Amino acid sequence: MVMRLSRSNFSQKEIDAVTRILEIGYTPMGPEVHQFEKDIAAYIGGGVEVACVNTGTAALHLACQAIGLGPGDEVLVPSLTYVASFQAISATGAKPIACDIDPATALLDLKDAKARITEQTKAIMHVHYASYPGDLDELYHFANTHQLRVVEDAAHSFGCLYDGKMIGSFGDVICFSFDGIKNITSGEGGAVVSRDEKVMQLVKDARLLGIQNDTEKRVKGERSWTFNVTHQGWRYHMSEIMAAIGRVQLQRFQAGELSDLRAELVQLYREQLTGVPGLTLFDHPLKEGDKVIPHIFPVRITNGRRDEFRDFLASKDIQCGFHYYPSHHLDLYKTDYALPGVELVESEIVTLPLHTLLSRDDVMQVCQFTKEFLG
Ligand SMILES: *Cc1c(COP(=O)(O)O)cnc(C)c1O
Repeated sequence: MVMRLSRSNFSQKEIDAVTRILEIGYTPMGPEVHQFEKDIAAYIGGGVEVACVNTGTAALHLACQAIGLGPGDEVLVPSLTYVASFQAISATGAKPIACDIDPATALLDLKDAKARITEQTKAIMHVHYASYPGDLDELYHFANTHQLRVVEDAAHSFGCLYDGKMIGSFGDVICFSFDGIKNITSGEGGAVVSRDEKVMQLVKDARLLGIQNDTEKRVKGERSWTFNVTHQGWRYHMSEIMAAIGRVQLQRFQAGELSDLRAELVQLYREQLTGVPGLTLFDHPLKEGDKVIPHIFPVRITNGRRDEFRDFLASKDIQCGFHYYPSHHLDLYKTDYALPGVELVESEIVTLPLHTLLSRDDVMQVCQFTKEFLG
């Protein structure tokens, strides 16, 4: 059997939850979505508001729109991210400005970002690559100094702690993804989280075609027959079916069922692979109060044999991944400058299997083959 790179983990509880919604017979956004938002807000804490949408990409798009981005604006964003980050920015008409990363951490290099600031720069999109937020104090200091709004692409870091605080419970506007393989899933889905009431009202309206206060009416079981629209909106709301899945996943995640193993398997990988010649782990030192629940486990193959290594694991029925093909190489976002940190990592990176249906023995097997190939 092929060892998969990533997988959803569903139990009878998710199946029962979906059945319950189908039996009720009402699937658009209603009380279940509202309850999922309350569950997430309670889990994250910090008095945040939560708006659930149908993908993480939609969450990022609405966040960018709600902070006022539009044509003529520029947004700093690391090139090493899923193209969703770039698409969410360009969907508003703003221009994503591809920035370099620190190859040791794969996170945004603020020195490079600083050099790309212009009169048009309005925001910075910070990507929590592989669930590591990096130094958020430094990031927010940078943003304040340059008067930039911050959108955190926290698609990888649901449930992670920074300095004792849950990701999303502080900061400007934070976006999560609940697609099939993320830390929790609602089938597809995502959420915008913020304490900025103005931003959240814009997001809530914009996910329902810009219909003012439609969210509030749906919560009360009312319909919007007459209404006003003042902003461009989209059809981005979450369905009751998705919310029902998401609520069960959140409960299982909080119970440790979908979270503890991720951290444990990455710790095992790190123990086994530290010091293996030709392989470099990303440097993600944890401080007191930090907790990471890793979504993916990328490593660098530094002896020039990455492609051979990937083929070798494939021949052993082990799936690997590539996170990510840099966005500044895509025709739509091509830059006339190089990004050496991204390009170095691009040539070396490979993602090893990580999900909650993997066992410690599976990880040991991947490590054995890795050592056999590199040793
Ligand atoms: C998954 C992901 C997204 C988008 O989320 P979807 O729910 O798939 O739309 C955005 N950014 C990053 C870094 C992601 O991994």
